[in-house]
Amino acid sequence: MELVLATHNSHKVQEVQAILGASVPGLTVLGYDGPEPVEDGVTFLENALIKARAAFAHTGKPAMADDSGIAVEVLGGAPGIFSARWAGGRDSVANRRLLLAQLADVPEHHRAASFVCTIALVTAEAELSFTGIWPGSVATEEHGEHGFGYDPIFIPEGLEVTAAELEPQVKNALSHRALALEQLANYLGA
Ligand code: IMP
Repeated sequence: MELVLATHNSHKVQEVQAILGASVPGLTVLGYDGPEPVEDGVTFLENALIKARAAFAHTGKPAMADDSGIAVEVLGGAPGIFSARWAGGRDSVANRRLLLAQLADVPEHHRAASFVCTIALVTAEAELSFTGIWPGSVATEEHGEHGFGYDPIFIPEGLEVTAAELEPQVKNALSHRALALEQLANYLGA
C-alpha cells in the first residue's frame, strides 16, 4: 500500500516510513511535492485535514498529514495551533522566550501543558484522525540541547528533565507524535 505524507520534508518521510513500516508490511510512504494549502483551520484536526485533503486531491492516493503544538492549561490551550509562530515568526528561541515570559508569575503547580499531535488520514473511502497527547509542564528555564521547538522548556509528566534532555530515541518513543503514529499503525495494520 502507498501512503502519501503531506510534507515537503524528506527527513519526515523517512522517519514515518521507519515507524509505520515496522508494523505495516508492504507500506510505502511517499513524499508530496504538490501545492501547499493555506492552513486556516482553528484546530489541530482542521489543519491536519486541510493538508491531507490537498495531498489526496493532488495525488489521488491515500494521504496523511499531521499538525502539532503545545497547549498550556493556564493559557486556555495556547499557543496551540499557533505554536510555530507564537512570537510572530518561525523562531523557536523567540517562541520559548515569549512563553516563559508569559508564565513568569505562574507557580510550578499551575504550569501544566501538553504536546498534542493530530494525524489526519484521507482515502477515497474515509477521513479519519488519530491524536496523541504527551502531558507535562512548562519549565521555568531552558535545559537540554536535543530536539526542537519547545523541547527545552517542556518537562514530560513523570520525568524531572526536559524533552530536550532526553536522547532522541527516548523522546521518539514517548512523544505525542509517537502516540498518534502508533494509533495510525494499529489502524493500517489491522
Ligand atoms: P507544525 O509544523 O505546524 O505542526 O507546527 C508545530 C510546532 O509546534 C513546531 O514548530 C513547534 O514549535 C511545536 N512542536 C510540535 N511538536 C513539538 C515537539 O515534539 N517538540 C517541540 N516543539 C514541538
